[in-house]
Amino acid sequence: MPNTPEKIWLSSPHMGENELKLVQEAFATNWIAPLGPHVNGFEEDLQHYTGAKHAAALTSGTAALHLSLVILGVKPGDLVICQSMTFSASANPIAYLGAIPVFVDSEADTWNMCSESLERAIQACLQGEVSGKKQKPAAIIPVHLYGMPAKMEEIMALAKAYEIPVVEDAAEALGATYKGKACGTFGDLGVLSFNGNKIITTSGGGALISDTEWMIKKARFLATQARDEAPHYQHSHIGYNYRLSNVLAGIGRGQMQVLDERVAARRANFERYKTYFGNKKGIKLQEAPNADFFSNHWLTGILVNESETGGINRETIRMALAEENIEARPLWKPMHLQPVFAKAPYFGTGVSDRLFQNGLCLPSGSNLQEQDFDRIFEVLDRIF
Ligand SMILES: *Cc1c(COP(=O)(O)O)cnc(C)c1O
Repeated sequence: MPNTPEKIWLSSPHMGENELKLVQEAFATNWIAPLGPHVNGFEEDLQHYTGAKHAAALTSGTAALHLSLVILGVKPGDLVICQSMTFSASANPIAYLGAIPVFVDSEADTWNMCSESLERAIQACLQGEVSGKKQKPAAIIPVHLYGMPAKMEEIMALAKAYEIPVVEDAAEALGATYKGKACGTFGDLGVLSFNGNKIITTSGGGALISDTEWMIKKARFLATQARDEAPHYQHSHIGYNYRLSNVLAGIGRGQMQVLDERVAARRANFERYKTYFGNKKGIKLQEAPNADFFSNHWLTGILVNESETGGINRETIRMALAEENIEARPLWKPMHLQPVFAKAPYFGTGVSDRLFQNGLCLPSGSNLQEQDFDRIFEVLDRIF
């Protein structure tokens, strides 16, 4: 195709200088297994960075969510409360275990779990209105969408009051903090992802973090096929093959060295968009409500209010960018609107429906160049 400009991605991998060296080290020492010094080192790096006491490096964020629910003892027929506005990986592990997801709406400011809808959902479960029998939810899964911290104080207060464990989906939020504390360290367990599009990547990978030692020990045990201590292969539990490879952990260690730079770059992207849209009516960014919220701004999301922009809507912008080979994407489609979860109970007031209708994620990679922004703003200038 002649004259097609190079693609600008929504969020593409961005390697530093040392990743390849660390991978070569894995080869040179023949640690090509799902264990080894890079795995241990990567876990230590994650502990130091987040302040969590323990960490287990795993094959994906989805695996980390799955193991979290196994560790909390989630069984078939249990109710698990989950933020509706998220990627399907937050909810799928509930279904893996035969449990029932109960979806909860977002709030307008952070786009994350609304504590009022959460409390209504908990009470409905307790009163038997959800499943026909009185059930205490087995877990709550809030998400830090696009790196914006959820209101963890409110959510944890409810979780404590009703004695329900929390699995914090911080897959998009490494480097983000709420009141100075790392996202992923508020709940009983925190989930991280190092998929190719995340703020740092191991090409594919994830981690489980926690202050509770037995939980992370159990995660490591379950992730390596639940092998009992014996010279032969002996099993008293169903296991999984979820441990991160030492080769990929080498990439992860290199990426940890540049994580703060990546966070700074993504936050700078957000500021550029904010400045650009500053004087344009009908565009709202996903912005920190106050200084307690430190978003890593993994992706910059905007809401487009068609009645204030003079007819420009989300799709106008997305299509115009696509025509110039620039990738932008609607916000996550809420789980309660997904065909696969059509029958799942849902508590909300329509906030996430509107976010999905009118929201767009703009190119947000930490490797965006000056000329990339020139191209993006050229398209936007033409529309506005
Ligand atoms: C990416 C992501 C996951 C899953 O992580 P993987 O490593 O891709 O399995 C889970 N939850 C959210 C919110 C995500 O964005």
